[in-house]
Amino acid sequence: MLKLSQSAYFSLRQHGEETYPHECCGVLLGRFDDNGAKTVSRIVRCGNTRADSPHNRYNIDPRELIRIQREGRGRNEDIVGFYHSHPDHAAQWSSTDLAEAHWFGCSYVITSVENGKAALTNSFELMGTDEDDKKFVDEPTEVS
Ligand SMILES: [Zn+2]
Repeated sequence: MLKLSQSAYFSLRQHGEETYPHECCGVLLGRFDDNGAKTVSRIVRCGNTRADSPHNRYNIDPRELIRIQREGRGRNEDIVGFYHSHPDHAAQWSSTDLAEAHWFGCSYVITSVENGKAALTNSFELMGTDEDDKKFVDEPTEVS
């Protein structure tokens, strides 16, 4: 379960509209709850460094990620997930998304943006223990 405030949910969907027809990407900061749920307290917009193919790929600069992680720790926030958009494609993970996902237990949120308007937003949790057995599992989201 991924819990988001309405403003965080709105903001990550709007980000995908703003970068359309390119993919947007960003980080979800928050906490891992005792019951296995994650609560997002802040979203951080990132630049998409995939200049070669920004309409169907995304990448967050590792240095930017380290900075976000460090600033989050100062506020007792962990990286609990990531988000990106799929311009004119379904809100489903791709084989590339899985190959490039390495944060076990984190949420990967995907918003489909159709003709510039955010449509569906889905979340997937990266399960497994290593690169060989990792998989995405559908994860319910709660927006409140
Ligand atoms: Zn994707």
